[in-house]
Amino acid sequence: MEQLGSKAEVRQAIAEARREDKRIALVPTMGALHDGHLSLVHAARQRADYVAVSVFVNPTQFGEAEDFAAYPRDLARDLDLLGAEGVDLAFTPSPEVMYAPGADVTIEPGRLGTVLEGAVRSGHFRGVCTIVTKLLSITGPDLAFFGEKDYQQLVLVRRMVRDLDLPVKVVGAPTVRECDGLAISSRNAHLSAEERAAAPVLYRALRSAETLALGGERDAAVLEDAMRSTVESEPVMTLDYAAVVDAASLEPSGELGPKPARALIAARIGRTRLIDNLSLEVG
Ligand code: AMP
Repeated sequence: MEQLGSKAEVRQAIAEARREDKRIALVPTMGALHDGHLSLVHAARQRADYVAVSVFVNPTQFGEAEDFAAYPRDLARDLDLLGAEGVDLAFTPSPEVMYAPGADVTIEPGRLGTVLEGAVRSGHFRGVCTIVTKLLSITGPDLAFFGEKDYQQLVLVRRMVRDLDLPVKVVGAPTVRECDGLAISSRNAHLSAEERAAAPVLYRALRSAETLALGGERDAAVLEDAMRSTVESEPVMTLDYAAVVDAASLEPSGELGPKPARALIAARIGRTRLIDNLSLEVG
């Protein structure tokens, strides 16, 4: 595996792979890699001949009061894991490489960037759209892989690729969970033992909505109430939102109908913020 930190070197390595007619995949990550990330790498490996993984904790998607400085980082371990997975290229730029001094042209995410996570994390999706566009521009992949774990991000990246005619296919991959249902996340490392024991309540809340939907409940407000009261059973959790939305537009569902719906949830537990989501199959 090659590890490269400069944009010019990455462009050159990928141009070489292109000359060999290879199908190229990009998996963008912020490092502190876990089985969720590695599932994206596996999916990429299956669909492409050349897999590039970026490891970059992007400062512009963190708000002032958020955990950029405290975000877990372990590049040596990440490189070991990626090497063992047969990744071809690890792109590990510094912030100075990614952002020229005074860089202030950004990608505006539009309405999808203002709801749910966007309503709580102002500017977050502008940072996400901008860095994803830059990574796509530098690597020029055929396929780019994103996890359903960050469902709003996946929907928004798909929309951005459509609206800006970016020449890449976005591939979504299912959320990888711990045995007790907790979605694996780099931020889980921050949880105390007590918080870790309480955290699976988010998945239980999503499942409570799913069970109601499968049982015939169509009123999104009833599903949202069920999620809310499930989370409230854990006093250490503070709910940010529990929402049932149209899976494509992220508009509130009202009544569940034939179109796919998605339950999304976000809560704070101590100093850690966790998000999760689940598809609502209503048959
Ligand atoms: P991050 O490093 O948190 O920015 O995540 C990088 C990519 O991995 C994103 O596309 C995430 O959605 C995806 N990802 C993170 N956690 C999981 C998980 N538990 N299952 C599947 N994909 C994940």
